[in-house]
Amino acid sequence: MEGVTQEELKARLLKPLLRELQDGARDRVVVGGLEALVQNLARPFPKLLELFRGYGEKPQEERKRVLQEALRLLEGQGPSPKGQAQASSRRLAPSDPAHLLAPPQSRRKLAELGLRTVRDVLHHYPRRYEDRRTLPGARYLEEGQKATLAVKVLAKELVKTPRKGMQLVQVKAQDAWGWRITLVWFNQPWVLSQIEEGATLIVTGRVGRRNGLQLYVEHFEDEGTESLSTGRIVPIYPAKEGVSQAFLRRTVHRALELALPLPDPLEAYREDLGLMPYAEALKAIHFPEDEEALKRALLRLKFDEYLLLELKALLEAGGMVLGRSFRVEEAWVEAFKKALPFPLTRAQERVMGEIAKDMQSPRQMARLLQGDVGSGKTVVAAFALFLAAKNGAQGALMAPTEILARQHYQNLTRYLFPLGIRVELLLGSMTAKEKEAAMARLLSGEAQVAVGTHALIQEGVGFRDLGLAVVDEEHRFGVLQRRALLKLAKAPPDVLVMSATPIPRSLALTLYGDLEVSVLDEMPPGRVPVKTKVLPHRLRLQAYAFAREEVRKGHQVFVVAPAIEESEELDLKAATTLYEELKGLLPGVRLALLHGRMPAREKDEVMEAFRRGDYDLLVSTTVVEVGVDIPKATLIIVENAERFGLAQLHQLRGRVGRGGLQGYAIFIAGEAGQKTLKRLKILEESTDGFYIAEMDLKLRGPGELRGTRQSGYPELKLGDLAEDTGIIEKARALAKAIVDKDPTLDLPEHRALKEELRAQAERVGFREVI
Ligand code: ADP
Ligand code: MG
Repeated sequence: MEGVTQEELKARLLKPLLRELQDGARDRVVVGGLEALVQNLARPFPKLLELFRGYGEKPQEERKRVLQEALRLLEGQGPSPKGQAQASSRRLAPSDPAHLLAPPQSRRKLAELGLRTVRDVLHHYPRRYEDRRTLPGARYLEEGQKATLAVKVLAKELVKTPRKGMQLVQVKAQDAWGWRITLVWFNQPWVLSQIEEGATLIVTGRVGRRNGLQLYVEHFEDEGTESLSTGRIVPIYPAKEGVSQAFLRRTVHRALELALPLPDPLEAYREDLGLMPYAEALKAIHFPEDEEALKRALLRLKFDEYLLLELKALLEAGGMVLGRSFRVEEAWVEAFKKALPFPLTRAQERVMGEIAKDMQSPRQMARLLQGDVGSGKTVVAAFALFLAAKNGAQGALMAPTEILARQHYQNLTRYLFPLGIRVELLLGSMTAKEKEAAMARLLSGEAQVAVGTHALIQEGVGFRDLGLAVVDEEHRFGVLQRRALLKLAKAPPDVLVMSATPIPRSLALTLYGDLEVSVLDEMPPGRVPVKTKVLPHRLRLQAYAFAREEVRKGHQVFVVAPAIEESEELDLKAATTLYEELKGLLPGVRLALLHGRMPAREKDEVMEAFRRGDYDLLVSTTVVEVGVDIPKATLIIVENAERFGLAQLHQLRGRVGRGGLQGYAIFIAGEAGQKTLKRLKILEESTDGFYIAEMDLKLRGPGELRGTRQSGYPELKLGDLAEDTGIIEKARALAKAIVDKDPTLDLPEHRALKEELRAQAERVGFREVI
């Protein structure tokens, strides 16, 4: 082997090793066995010889390890440009284990970050970026200044100062413009071995001058020979203690080199959507050339993220299920409207049109009806139930509590009875005899509509022909309960889900990917907005003075005790303490207490008594039903309002002023920082539930939308629900088109998409909401 450099030897070795790895380490690539070849070529590399001893006899997994180790050794010794070109021809699949990307001693770090596969690493997106395209040049540094520089190591040495006996590591280095600087570490001799000549360092320290420019280093990052941390926009990753940014950058970079180009899951659609190619986007999200590229990459990958969510929702819902096709006659619609005691709002008319269209279509209706408290959702539900009945089918409305079910029952009877439709009530608390009678009428078809609680899906309930299921305040029900209701039907019934939570559109679209969304964004006329006041804590007694006035007028008052996250016990204590305090403060006022620890039955009883007017003031934790009508309730006071989401406070105030009387809400800020007050003041200024929910989302993030953290929200890596409505809508439209065309995602153009979906589902695994 005379005249052959080590570099050339390495290059010769690399190729067969790579081929062998690609072939699955079966020792078939080299005639006579790989070990023989290595012994021939690798004499200058004793470690390699050692590594390959007995290669032919090793199990396949072990051989793979050997190969990877060997490749690392070869590349680790300062790879030649040729060597690098070779290395990038070694392909890794996204599903390959992530540890192939890191040296053995660092593998645990990847596991700690939850990065199990190459795909995980590719999708370990930066948390933020630092623009290091223009780190200062050494030339412009001034003595005493603190600075961060990128420099290349020229030479290093350990020096002992003669007088004080200090050990100095001195490194001669130069910046990108060729200006020299000496880096100095005091009494840290070990640094010497960590630094290699030719490496790029990011160094931070104080500038000094003594025989030329010096930097007394306080902190440094070693970039090795690849410069991933300088002269570019540098990614800063979510990391953990002991996992350096430099390590992550190297690993991600390696993943990009070894796994790309990947098939683009959106190859068939990308161009029409004007989205960046997948591989390009992955590169640019980690190592963007410029801001523009970063922006486009972000858009592309966000789109993918949402698309996968929407697809997941659609596929889980079973795709586009064929349902029933109901007839809708103009005369019926007119008859329904005429029987109402009031004209419909435009929003109600619009949404009823949407529902009628859904019900006519042979597809199963899956619609979410959103509307602020009091926006008139019940009439809309009544309309849908009416249409079903006109077609000879039955409908069911399920509510989360008895008191709400009873209220629905009364309203639906009021709307539907004049039209000849019989409504039945089914509650757990009814006597067996009452239940049996109601159930018999449902089974025979004598009654067309059932209203109830979970009792509806309990054993024994059957319909002659259930064609429409309406679920109110659905977030109280789990997916299983909804499905149980649907099972009572012979063919897939149409489904209408009602929610008073003003979920911002973007969030609704991702949470309920399988549901169409209709919004009642207009209040019936004549509803006086609730007058709202935010009080700092020191003025809190004013609120109770006002409460006394309202009670004197014969009105009723809600007082909500501070919710304490994740502890019903503390909630209870807070409510009880407040209750005792108010007893002393408001003599003669009839007080009731309601809290989450009470059995459902008892809660309903207290609520019912309050509604009857047996009490003037109800102290409660937030368990009070949002949808319950208490016509005489005019004031709601919320203690420690800062602990609630704005959307939740808005819902709370929707409980008062429902009977035509002026309603008032007083929100007491416990810790009245300026920021808190400013946030709460949004409620003084706006009564638009959706606007408030958007602001809430912006200020608090989706996890806190409903006051306490709720599981079930999708975990987005890039997406920002507060801003992405446009992207989400596009992703949803595409998801639908795809599922419509190819419900099992088996067409060749959807193969990569299906693969991503499978991997994502495994990784993200968010809980089903619906
Ligand atoms: P939601 O369930 O959306 O909170 P409801 O359906 O209970 O609201 O309606 C709230 C109140 O408004 C009810 O008393 C209802 O009779 C009344 N209402 C509904 N629609 C109208 C309308 N178009 N005009 C006047 N009053 C209406
Ligand atoms: Mg309601």
